[in-house]
Amino acid sequence: MRFTSWRSLVLVSVVAVGAVLVAALPAFAADDAAPAKIGVLIIDGQNNHKWQDTTPAIKEMLGKTGRFTVDVATTPEKKAAKEAWDKFRPDFARYGAVLMNYNGDSWPEEVRKSFEQYMTDGGGLVFYHAGVFAFADWKEFNDMMGMGWRNANQGMRLTIDADGKEVRTPSGEGPGSGHGPSHAFGIDVRDPKHPAMEGLPARFMHVKDELYHGMRGPLTGMHIIATAFSDKKSGGTGTNEPMVWTVPFGKGKVFVTLLGHDVPATIAPSSAVLISRGLEWAATGKVTLSVPEGLGSETK
Ligand code: ZN
Repeated sequence: MRFTSWRSLVLVSVVAVGAVLVAALPAFAADDAAPAKIGVLIIDGQNNHKWQDTTPAIKEMLGKTGRFTVDVATTPEKKAAKEAWDKFRPDFARYGAVLMNYNGDSWPEEVRKSFEQYMTDGGGLVFYHAGVFAFADWKEFNDMMGMGWRNANQGMRLTIDADGKEVRTPSGEGPGSGHGPSHAFGIDVRDPKHPAMEGLPARFMHVKDELYHGMRGPLTGMHIIATAFSDKKSGGTGTNEPMVWTVPFGKGKVFVTLLGHDVPATIAPSSAVLISRGLEWAATGKVTLSVPEGLGSETK
């Protein structure tokens, strides 16, 4: 090919380079595409709370983030026959994270073992609100949650004093699990560098909800990332009660948030941000979800 002038040479070169770039674009686009969606399995079916209302609300809330695909595994009802339980065999390994919206009858031993294996191999688990009532008699499960809704004799208690120091209360001393009347309260971030808490205000208000206190458990590996002050005037304990924490289990990651008694308290931005970012963190160790609008800081 002969070029009649340097201008046409430049033109041809630019077109050629452009063609190469265009050809390369799909590859770049693929690399920059949104990360694959995280599979979440919500477990419900028995709960001393209205799981029939909260599961669809959570499913919708998670769907709106665009980050998750959500399946639901519903157990048989209370006191169901063995034949019904024989059909409950969730394939945990298919999911990035499991969300516990369950407390009730024991799972079959085979399901317990498969769940322990899933977590040992690097699974993700998020407890929310009354999920921490479940399975007081299952040691590995207690190890996963660190502490949960138990009586005062069922493990140690962990709180944060006014100086920000952790206080451990032995089993049998102090209050067991409980809560005063529902009220709005502030959430204090204790580890702003945790991926799930990055970008959140140091203190943000939560809506009317139950403020759990006196959680009990083995506390193994517990890392508190947010607390709420449990005011005696609101039927509380007069100290900072853990509201959000993490626990390692094998290669797996556990994230606990105690917020969410009913649908409004579950899908309020102050709770939804913890459930959704907690699921993302438990599944991947990273958080890409932004802080929702309407999550206001509280200055007092
Ligand atoms: Zn409740």
